[in-house]
Parts: sequence; structure tokens; C-alpha cells
Amino acid sequence: MALRTGQSLASSVAGQRTAEGRMGTAPGEVQQQWQQVRTLLRAELGDTAFGTWLKPLELVELAGDRVVLAVPTQFMRDWIVANYADRIRALWVRLNPGVRSVTLAVRPPGGEPAAPVAAAPAAPVVPLEPAAEASGEELGARLDPRLTFESFVVGKPNEFAVAAAEKVAMSATPPFNPLFLYGGVGLGKTHLMHAIGWRVRQRDPSRRVVYLTAEKFMYRFILALRSKDTIPFKELFRSVDLLMVDDLQFITGKDSTQEEFFHTFNALVERGRQIVISADRSPSDLDGLEERIRSRLSWGLVADIHPTTYELRLGILQTKAEASGVDVPLRVLEFLASRITSNVRELEGALNRIVLQANLTRQPVSIEMAQEILKDVLRAADRRITIEEIQKAVVEHYGLRMADMTSARRQRQVARPRQVAMYLAKLLTPRSLPEIGRRFGGRDHTTVMHAVRQIERLQAEDRQLAEDVEAIRRRLQA
Ligand code: ADP
Ligand code: MG
Repeated sequence: MALRTGQSLASSVAGQRTAEGRMGTAPGEVQQQWQQVRTLLRAELGDTAFGTWLKPLELVELAGDRVVLAVPTQFMRDWIVANYADRIRALWVRLNPGVRSVTLAVRPPGGEPAAPVAAAPAAPVVPLEPAAEASGEELGARLDPRLTFESFVVGKPNEFAVAAAEKVAMSATPPFNPLFLYGGVGLGKTHLMHAIGWRVRQRDPSRRVVYLTAEKFMYRFILALRSKDTIPFKELFRSVDLLMVDDLQFITGKDSTQEEFFHTFNALVERGRQIVISADRSPSDLDGLEERIRSRLSWGLVADIHPTTYELRLGILQTKAEASGVDVPLRVLEFLASRITSNVRELEGALNRIVLQANLTRQPVSIEMAQEILKDVLRAADRRITIEEIQKAVVEHYGLRMADMTSARRQRQVARPRQVAMYLAKLLTPRSLPEIGRRFGGRDHTTVMHAVRQIERLQAEDRQLAEDVEAIRRRLQA
């Protein structure tokens, strides 16, 4: 922890003794109290809310009767002040009656804390935002011009979600409400929402499109609460034709926000306005969500985006490479598509680095160059596959036994699959030839090298073998 806690604690405790003549609390004790408070909070709030809001909090110091905690963002500070600060203080007072208040300072990771704001007992006043007549842009975030249907590559894993998104974008009245898009990180949820927004605006510029994250939605709600607005929060969103809320998994815990979200949601549905929601998991898997909201979310259409396949990754790379203006050979794209399998964001990042390097050095793009530039990314990707997993996959594919991978049997029906496994071990893991040899019954590194060359060569002439290798590789990288 890069915290100057020790130091600040020591100085504040010293300050306490001299300035106020009171018994100070030793730094270790304060840390201990903080640990206890955290444990109690976790038990009260549950893992989800605790993990989202309170886990990132760090103890800065106990200054006089004031506990100072650091949060990474302004948004989190406001949210914690509004929802949890009183509770933190109450729990702390029980452990240490000397504590009077808890304050929160915004400190970006690694940065200096900004001036702390008194959190409890009195909450700070946040400047009010004009509540009346909010246009789409004022309410939500800007749409990114790069994220359109035109720039979205369609493949098996996302075709259903894309069809649903296009349907919503092209319909005058909601074909299903809400459209609920879900899938893992970096698979295109945000991209599709922006694409819907652009298409709707393009077709009818008078329609009000609001896109915002669930975090932002909660933030607006807090502002509304603070301002003691007589106009209910949902009125703010009343005139919206299309409301898109991204990353709904962040609306958890606090009942009042969910309540408000539910009202807004219902008000819009009643008026026949379209709602699009995204989350990293399905409605039934979203924990910390009220049951009625969960079931309401499933009334419309739930469309999931599956993890990418090799074909889709290659398609995305080809499209993006073409747009970059740099000539990236197909085998380099194939190399990237087979090695970087986690998500599209990482894939894009890898290609961007290669394009940048090519532009800087004016050298042709090659696999060697890609390997050099992407060393870190590739290493991280490789860590996922172990030699044992490869052996298992090969054994299952060919209907053999694990012992066949390490045995000395030389019959073709055993030896060939064993070679395939060695080849895949070289291709998919960062292990050296001698290491691989050891894992295959203590074989010599020249045996492994021979296997790698053999399989490489045979793939070109033996289609069955090439298909087998590809099938096993796909399964391992799925
Ligand atoms: P998510 O919101 O699901 O985490 P994003 O929509 O932010 O993912 O996608 C991450 C990045 O990958 C974005 O730059 C997006 O444009 C790109 N991307 C994802 N899927 C595709 C696709 N099928 N075609 C083109 N680009 C894509
Ligand atoms: Mg997103």
C-alpha cells in the first residue's frame, strides 16, 4: 500500500497529544479499528455493495476526533457521503468514543489527497445542476462517432445481439422493452448502444436519445436528492425517447436508487419509450438487485454477446487493419487472432501498437515484430494454457489415455497425437523445448523440436491432421 498512513498517523497522534492534551490513539490501534469497521460494514451490506463502494476506501489518518478516509474518485466520495458515511461513523464511535466525524478525501490512485470534505454529521452541499429542460446531451454522455453499426463486425457470437439492436434502432415503437444486452468485458455492449443511438438520431433527429452509465444515473439521483428537488427525478427523464443505461451491474445496494430506477423505467415504458440496458451478466445473475426489478428486466428481450471466436477476431482485425492504412500481412493477423483471445479491446490495443510501430519505424510488419512489441500481452495470454490442459485436450480428442502422453509407445496412433500435443505446447505456452520434453515423459529437447517441425510440415499436406490441430487449439483457447 503506497499510503503515507504511518507517517500521517504518527504526526497526527503527536499533534493530538500536544495540542489537545488528550490521550492519543496509537497508529496500530486506529488501523485495527478501521479493520473492524470494515468487517462490520461488510457483514451489514453484503459483498457486492461492500466490494463496489467500501473496499476501495483507505484510511489516511485519525486527526484529533476526525477520521480521514481516502476515495479514488469524486463520484465515489459523493456516493459514500450520501449513503454510508453515517454508518461508518456510528460503527467507529462504538469502537472509539473519541471519534466525532468521518471525512472523505478524493485521492486518485497514487496521487495526493485533495482537501477533505466533511462527510458526517453534515453532508457537503453540492452545486445544483439546472434540473429543468434537460436535453439528451445534458442528461447523458456524448455518443462516440466511431461506434456505429457500420464499424461493428458481425459474427456468430454477436449476430443475435446485433439483430436485436438494429431492430430497436429501426422501429418507431419499441419492438421489445427493454432490450437487455449482456456479455463479458470488451465484447461490444457499449459499441452497440452507441450504434443504436446514432441510427435513431440519423433516422429522426428530433428524437431524444440519452445514453449514460448506471453510475452516472445514480449520481444524477444523488444530486436530485441533495437539491431536495420537488420535481421527481423521473420527470427529468420524462421527455426522453430512447434511454440507454450502460453497465447496470453497478446499481446495487442502496434501495432508494433502485426504487427510483424502477419508477423511471416504468414511467418510460408506460409512455412507449424505448429502454436499452447493458450489464456484464444476465438479469437473473445480477445480485444485489430487487426481485421485481430483476423480473421486469426480463420482460423485454434478453440478448447475450458470446465470447469471440477465431473467425470473428480475424474479421475484426482485418477491418481495423484496413482502416489503419498500414499493410499488415494476413499471417500476422492470424497470429494475433489465435493468440489474443480474451476480448476485442485487447485485440484492438495489440493491433494499434503494431500499427504505431510500423508508422514510426517504416518497417514491414512481421510476426517477429508483433511478438517483440506484444511480449507482455502474449505472455499474459499464454499463462492461461498449461501443458497439462493441452495433453488432456489431445487425449480426449483422440480417445487416448493420459499415460500415452508420457509413455514410450511408438505406434503411430499414439505417437502422432503426442507430437500434436508437443507442437501445441510450443505454440501456446511460453515453455522451452527441454521443459516440454520433461513433461512428456522426460524426452529430449531434440525430440520436441522434431515433433514441432513434423506437425508444422504435415499440416500443409494432411488436411485431417490440420483440422484436428485446429479443433484442439480452438477448444483450448475458447
Ligand atoms: P463492452 O462495453 O462490452 O465492455 P465495448 O463496446 O467497449 O465493450 O468494446 C470494446 C472495444 O472493442 C471497442 O473499441 C469496440 O469498438 C470494439 N469492438 C467490440 N466488438 C466489436 C466488433 N464486433 N466489431 C468491431 N469492434 C468491436
Ligand atoms: Mg462497456
